[in-house]
Amino acid sequence: MEILKVEELKMHFPVYGGIFYRQIARVFAVDGVSFSIEAGKTLGLVGESGCGKSTIGRALLRLYEPTAGRISFEGKDITHLSGSSLRELRSDMQMIFQDPFESLNPRHTVGSILEEPFQIHRWGTPLERRQEVLRLLDRVGMPADSVHKYPHEFSGGQRQRIGIARAIALKPKLIICDEAVSALDVSIQSQILNLLVELQQEMGMAYLFIAHDLSVIRHVSDQIAVMYLGRIVEIAERDSLYKNPLHPYTQALIASIPVPDPRRRKTFTPLQGEVPSPLNPPPFCHFVERCAYAQAVCSQQTPQLSSIDGSDPSHRVACHFAGRLSHK
Ligand code: SF4
Repeated sequence: MEILKVEELKMHFPVYGGIFYRQIARVFAVDGVSFSIEAGKTLGLVGESGCGKSTIGRALLRLYEPTAGRISFEGKDITHLSGSSLRELRSDMQMIFQDPFESLNPRHTVGSILEEPFQIHRWGTPLERRQEVLRLLDRVGMPADSVHKYPHEFSGGQRQRIGIARAIALKPKLIICDEAVSALDVSIQSQILNLLVELQQEMGMAYLFIAHDLSVIRHVSDQIAVMYLGRIVEIAERDSLYKNPLHPYTQALIASIPVPDPRRRKTFTPLQGEVPSPLNPPPFCHFVERCAYAQAVCSQQTPQLSSIDGSDPSHRVACHFAGRLSHK
């Protein structure tokens, strides 16, 4: 069953300047993105910094008002929700941030931080809430005496566990993990990833897992969408994407994953150059300036996200030459 459906989502931000402080440009942060997530499953959303993936997460939680498009949660249109309906939705949809230190109030103890969601949603008696806080701490591997401490007394990994405890407090159906392990050491990253996978198996929630690193996304995702400059350029089941990446950008991202065995040769062209500004993306194929396979048509027609003949229909790519790439 589909829990989240996003159709042609656009997030454009106006840029103001000049003597009269008028709108002088627009940032095309998200430019017509569609995807869906099944209940209890994980969609990995990957791309370089500035490609718009975190903006999507914030638009889903309605921290930003979408410029265009439609967002449905459990079949209900939530694109322009506000007031009490939006508050209700937020108990079903939660977010885990990259830096929990910024999202945990430094003046509150961990006990009051974890109790807050229950108070906002008027859940239980004070005693029941305190018991629930202890249960949450135990579930994320934190000692009970953490309730009396402040966020600065913990390491980055422990703070992320507290952030996860807060996110799962109201038993949400969807959690948006925005670069949730990017700021952590590799050994701590795997502990947090394992915890997220265990919690999903126990509680059955879906994840939108946002990261810039394909090797991290691989461990947690059922399906993966690759973003470039505000658009999804390829989306597929995890194994299909890693075994048979079709878009030159996905191929370059996979080529950039470190390989422990130096005898194994990379088969794809590594990525060259910088991501163009989202203020002025190339028209038609956004990847054209960095693509080793670009032809004239790539600067004349926008490639649409579609499957290629004779291959898995759930594996879709936006490239005029997908499946038959050859150098210029
Ligand atoms: Fe490269 Fe053209 Fe495909 Fe864009 S459409 S990725 S420029 S080959």
